[in-house]
Amino acid sequence: MKKVIFILVDSLMPNILNEGLAARCIPALQYLVDHGELRMDCVTVFPTMTASIDASLLTGAFPDEHKIPGLIWYDPEKKQMINYMNGAAPVSKLGIKNCSQNILVNLNQKHLNKQTKTIFEDLADRGKSSASINLIIHRGYEQHKILFPYKNLLGIHKEQLISGPETLFLGAMAYPGHMKTKLKSFSSGMRHLYGINDQFSISAARELINRGSQPDFMMVYLPDNDHRLHRTGPEKGELSLIKVDRQIERLLNAYSSWEKAVKENIFIITSDHGQTGIGKEKAEHNIDLDQHLKAFNVLQLGEKVSEKHELVVCNNERMAYIYPLKENLQEKAVNILKKETRIDLISWKDGNKIVVTAGGKTDTTAVFYKNGPYQDPYGQSWTVSGDISLMDMTLNNSIIEFNDYPDILSRLYGALFSQECPMIVITARPRFEFTSKYYPKHNNGGSHGSLHKFDSIIPLIVTGDEKENPLPGRLVDLKEYILSLYEKDA
Ligand SMILES: [Zn+2]
Repeated sequence: MKKVIFILVDSLMPNILNEGLAARCIPALQYLVDHGELRMDCVTVFPTMTASIDASLLTGAFPDEHKIPGLIWYDPEKKQMINYMNGAAPVSKLGIKNCSQNILVNLNQKHLNKQTKTIFEDLADRGKSSASINLIIHRGYEQHKILFPYKNLLGIHKEQLISGPETLFLGAMAYPGHMKTKLKSFSSGMRHLYGINDQFSISAARELINRGSQPDFMMVYLPDNDHRLHRTGPEKGELSLIKVDRQIERLLNAYSSWEKAVKENIFIITSDHGQTGIGKEKAEHNIDLDQHLKAFNVLQLGEKVSEKHELVVCNNERMAYIYPLKENLQEKAVNILKKETRIDLISWKDGNKIVVTAGGKTDTTAVFYKNGPYQDPYGQSWTVSGDISLMDMTLNNSIIEFNDYPDILSRLYGALFSQECPMIVITARPRFEFTSKYYPKHNNGGSHGSLHKFDSIIPLIVTGDEKENPLPGRLVDLKEYILSLYEKDA
């Protein structure tokens, strides 16, 4: 039976893929599209940040089930801000040891809900082998040694093991022993992000193919496109996509012909999220959360939570979680945030319901909760009331139609119920992002995190599935789709 090669291209966007195809400058992707199926309207989960999205991709669940709220979040039990690394300055404030322990170990072994199985675990249950190449979520049934040459720098214990499928690559930190010399050149040093780069990922995949040890399912993560789009903005995305295409070409070339590659494999290529261009002027386009919330005693990076603290702000670029630590602060914070017109949606929990308002709209709200008379396009029913135009949503008899905020109900629900504690979710309007002291800014570049379609719509290419099963419309439904490919061929 066919093997599956899954390529996750960070920040791959439908409009940029379209441009590249029209200009005929991405021959490898062109070949896969011409010989397969393509969807340009797939919806990812929220927040549109890699950590929470990869968790949904691998578990087939929203954050309310898999329990990874985002890249940055607050753990009320440990009284700790969790940061899976968003730049040198915030990481150094929180401590490199703390952050690397969180991303390398806790994310997979503690934070990710044990009740939601990863695709690696589900495939192992079915007797299928897997490889995870450079994905940050990689929980499986095997334990792997961390090989990182600078363990002291990371503060990770020498004997620390990390979880993964049978074959686990994580840059210079984890790879099968015999690969060392092959992968060394692009895995050393900070400049190469210690191997978390496209060149390493594709070389690792090629090695497995060339050695005849390609597993039934191989998941390959290509991160470079995200870094480039953060710098240039999506407007220059085609040039970045050409570089991605060159890497996909290297992978196809591991087979004697591209025909053979798609004859022996099903290729799935998708993205985690899009990006939104951010305006150039900092004062204009960066919504300063420290400034807006200065009436509160906000936890500062590196501080220990104490009685005096009133709010924790977890900035995820174009979205933020705001955690009130004391009673009666939520309403006060919402009232301040509502005055900022550059803030897009503002939402919070009220029992099992979600309340939504928007920056600049001081007097209207919409309320929704699960189950009820209205059906969304993905089969979930809801009760909705109030000013639903806030969510750019229309009701056509009992059918819900989404516009600028695709699948907003399930996605907002997933984020707000990822934790039980009170929390406010805010998003920035297009061209704006949130800023906090020490956090990276993306002026004149790209940023993501929000519910808006710019950050949320991703393409999906499947090539080599002769049965031409209909492609799922959401990233969260991809796991089930992949498992079904194995079932049908069994
Ligand atoms: Zn990014």
